[in-house]
Amino acid sequence: MKKNVNRSWTAKDSAEIYGINDWGVGYFNTTSDGLLSVTTDNCGTTIETPLLQIIQDIKDRGLDAPVLVRFEDLLEQQIGRLNDAFNEAITTAGYQGQYRGVFPIKVNQQCHVIEEIAKAGAKYGHGLEAGSKPELIIALAHLESPDAHIVCNGYKDQEFIDLGLQARKMGYSCVFVVETLSELPIILDRSRVLGIKPLIGVRVKLASVVGGHWNATSGDRSIFGLSIAQLVEMIDILRAENMLDCLQLLHYHLGSQIPNIRDIRNGVVEACQVYMDLVREGANMQFLDLGGGLAVDYDGSKTNYIHSKNYTLSEYCADIVDVVMSTLDPENITHPTIITESGRATIAYSSVLVFNVLDVATFEPGAVPETIEESEHKLIHNLKETVDSLSEKNMQECYNDAIFYRDEVRELFKRGQLGLRSRSLAENLFLLIMKKVLDVSDRAKRPLQEIDKLREQLSDIYYGNFSLFQSLPDVWAIDQIFPIAPIHRLDEQPTRQAIIADITCDCDGKIDRFTNMHSTNTTIPLHPMIGEEEYFIGVFLVGAYQETLGDLHNLFGDPNVVSVRFNEDGSYEFADEIEGDSIADVLSYVEYQPQQLRERFRKIAERSVRQGHISASERQTIMKAFSESMQGYTYYEKE
Ligand SMILES: *Cc1c(COP(=O)(O)O)cnc(C)c1O
Repeated sequence: MKKNVNRSWTAKDSAEIYGINDWGVGYFNTTSDGLLSVTTDNCGTTIETPLLQIIQDIKDRGLDAPVLVRFEDLLEQQIGRLNDAFNEAITTAGYQGQYRGVFPIKVNQQCHVIEEIAKAGAKYGHGLEAGSKPELIIALAHLESPDAHIVCNGYKDQEFIDLGLQARKMGYSCVFVVETLSELPIILDRSRVLGIKPLIGVRVKLASVVGGHWNATSGDRSIFGLSIAQLVEMIDILRAENMLDCLQLLHYHLGSQIPNIRDIRNGVVEACQVYMDLVREGANMQFLDLGGGLAVDYDGSKTNYIHSKNYTLSEYCADIVDVVMSTLDPENITHPTIITESGRATIAYSSVLVFNVLDVATFEPGAVPETIEESEHKLIHNLKETVDSLSEKNMQECYNDAIFYRDEVRELFKRGQLGLRSRSLAENLFLLIMKKVLDVSDRAKRPLQEIDKLREQLSDIYYGNFSLFQSLPDVWAIDQIFPIAPIHRLDEQPTRQAIIADITCDCDGKIDRFTNMHSTNTTIPLHPMIGEEEYFIGVFLVGAYQETLGDLHNLFGDPNVVSVRFNEDGSYEFADEIEGDSIADVLSYVEYQPQQLRERFRKIAERSVRQGHISASERQTIMKAFSESMQGYTYYEKE
């Protein structure tokens, strides 16, 4: 296929149709020569680097696509943006307390990511949130500043509590957030035995319910936290134990990706009332922890749509500070340290999945003769007449007729009354009609009713070298939308409409919901493939939740991961390279032993030699291929 020659098409047009400037929030842009670039700010110097160049550099080092590229600078900048925004809101409003963020480890537990967060967050006293024993261990090993908090959510057994208490003794600001009343006696008991006073927080269920995907964590029926009645019970227990002074933190979490700022305000209003009553009850309250929920604008629409958010980061911070002040001030209650547990918004931007396209299936009609032979079935003549008569006026009728004739043809074929070649001709005529209808409808004043469905049915299938289940599990599980765009050729008009399929043999392994032109579409415009030339597509904003939620469907393993760090002079280095799983790796995850597999296969090959199917030297070649395969990448490798 020839390179598209629409001279008036520029990278700006591509930026528009893929929404790059909307969801890219300045981090992702396009260059005038049609490349998608990453823009970072390094000590006041703006550095713009084409993603394609990075991918080629990675390939030169022997790591192939699919590859997950992590940008340490973007993570660092997001932590900066979050803390700066809160600090600015606090200064502007004259708020007396501080802001202290904590990163919830569950959102991305990868070692390199946590190291980077601890490093970048140090100057802000940015801490970590741990929801399990392994996560507490990660937190303890990474946070050094006593300024940074460790917030322990989740169910805590004696082992968890003992470790947290010892950490407290060492000087860590490690808070146990009580999630169920049954945890309280263990905390009190172990504290008595070890002689260490705990820092206690409490998670409450607010009545406020939020919109969006994850709203099950809000409202009366949320599975976490204490009801107001249980909270009162907890206060009484602590008072009886003379430990009410240990209760210092109020926590709630309304769910992830809250698209509507009104829901966020409502939550804070209700939490402030609880907070004030805890102060009045005599607890030594210091911290108000609002949990996560700060959303990412995945579709760039700036709306309260579930994949978006109708507020900016500054508005989020200013609203929270404002609500806390205006609720507490009339009651003369000291301003608490505000904690948020933003995971998604902190980490989403920093990772991009890049894959190559392996193949494209098109639904183009095959050749159809100028005239249909007399002897052909009546239905085929009908289809041909439909093609010839098609116009804007009768397109709806032609569309309906064509479907009817095609179905009749298939029926006859099933009954053995029509041959393979006749059916093939009919299918080609049908596709020809559908393509013409699409063209006519696109130019018509009133489009065809079924136009979206038709466009989807005629769209190409681009086969991408990745596993949806491994790398983008939320697309499959909860219909998450991630921004997607080719990372090059953006100065050419993308003339194909496509859906994207992965290489698992699962019919769910496909992406058919995209955000572009400020709406959700079932297809994405892409460029026609040019011969053997590689075509790379990026899936953006995938840093949150995707990596560890992913699974081994069809035994496709972890892709290659490369962490990029930019230098002040605009150059970059690969701070970390993690080779993706080999076939031997994934086999061992499901309890196969590569050595044993080779031994079994060797025996079968030896029998083959004895039976005369292969020669001894052929056996050697086969065994070598078997062993080499075992060490290879689980994804499609080009020679
Ligand atoms: C998952 C979770 C978070 C993270 O929420 P985001 O929306 O990703 O910021 C924060 N706190 C708790 C308790 C969570 O369970």
